[in-house]
Amino acid sequence: MSQPAARTRRPAWNRKNPYAAEVLESRRMSGEGSEKDVRHYRFAIGDSGLEYQVGDGLGVRPINDPALVDAIIEALGASGDVEIAGKDADLRTVLSTQVEISVPSTDLLEAMDGRTHDGELEHVLATRDKQALEAWLWGRDVLDVLRMAPLGCLSPDEFVGLLGRLQHRTYSISSSPLSHPGEIHTIVSTVRYRSAERDRGGVCSTYLADRIETGDRVGVFILPNRSFRLPADDATPVIMVGPGTGVAPFRAFLHDRRGRGASGRNWLFFGEQHRASDYHYHEEFEEFLADGTLDRLDLAFSRDQPPAEGVAKDYVQNHMLRHGADLYAWLEEGAQLYVCGDATRMAKDVDTALHRIVGEHGGLSDDAAEDYLSALRKDKRYLRDVY
Ligand SMILES: Cc1cc2nc3c(=O)[nH]c(=O)nc-3n(C[C@H](O)[C@H](O)[C@H](O)COP(=O)(O)OP(=O)(O)OC[C@H]3O[C@@H](n4cnc5c(N)ncnc54)[C@H](O)[C@@H]3O)c2cc1C
Repeated sequence: MSQPAARTRRPAWNRKNPYAAEVLESRRMSGEGSEKDVRHYRFAIGDSGLEYQVGDGLGVRPINDPALVDAIIEALGASGDVEIAGKDADLRTVLSTQVEISVPSTDLLEAMDGRTHDGELEHVLATRDKQALEAWLWGRDVLDVLRMAPLGCLSPDEFVGLLGRLQHRTYSISSSPLSHPGEIHTIVSTVRYRSAERDRGGVCSTYLADRIETGDRVGVFILPNRSFRLPADDATPVIMVGPGTGVAPFRAFLHDRRGRGASGRNWLFFGEQHRASDYHYHEEFEEFLADGTLDRLDLAFSRDQPPAEGVAKDYVQNHMLRHGADLYAWLEEGAQLYVCGDATRMAKDVDTALHRIVGEHGGLSDDAAEDYLSALRKDKRYLRDVY
């Protein structure tokens, strides 16, 4: 007799149907004098049935900045009340909740070809040089592009049709179901910059920082990350490299390991700009050290020493190199190594440092060191979640 097909349980909450989680806390973690605006958020998951494991991400559905929406409506020479064909909503609603109004889409740029009064944009579009286009786009948004065209050259319907869908943003979960039941925590660095005489902000990080208050509800869902899990064996030592917001999953790991009474040793490398203002979760980490959850904690504050010529800034990889013999010994004892955070520079620098450590302390040639790290990757003992 044939077996009935196994039913897969689909999560109730997802990208298209996020759960409206209540914000329990929105706290600025960056202290006075910090150049950053890093915040700790706590969301209530109540009886939603949302389940996660440490290492997973949280998808957050943002709402666009109303001031930017107003400015776009004005630049279109339209009224916010006008109904948009096929969207079942008016222009203001569509611009607020349905389309990406920050980074210009390719369709919008192509529609501008031959219609703008901006020579530089016309030139970049004509050459079809991807790199030049990216350079031109850096620091420019949909409003900048729209303002380069004559007023009324695009109808609201036409304009909306050229924009991409407003996407969720992903944040590493920084809580553990064992230590923070009924809640999900994240740590978010708010994107703010000034370009072409206008203050600009990242869509989702400023939505959370500037327009959401405790008690408000935010659309969220879980993004499982099966390739960034704690070792199945609680006795396995763990090395975590997580500067900046990259520390988020490691705060979750440490709470989880403590909650499970895991016997394996834990070593955390954390880095930021200034100890006084940017040492996030320092009270918790000091407590983890005091109660033995953390065996080692190495901290790198890149802007604490006076800038001097020839003096490299203090980054996590310097500490890894300084303690290379111990780090190699941990790896030889079976430690699992995790890296989270900035993909552009940090992850590469950490990888280079690992090569050096393995080469020097394992007495390996460059090629053999690469083979050693490849084997770690293959065995899922060198895991990265970088963005
Ligand atoms: C797997 C994963 C995990 C992540 N975890 C975290 C996390 O734990 N914490 C966290 O804070 N983030 C995390 N992120 C990043 C996060 O998803 C968002 O990308 C980030 O918050 C920015 O989103 P935003 O909507 O605020 O900005 P967006 O509206 O997406 O704007 C970002 C864009 O702004 C432009 N821009 C930014 N700075 C400048 C500048 N100085 N000059 C000119 N242009 C600029 C660039 O075009 C950039 O792409 C993670 C990402 C991934 C993929």
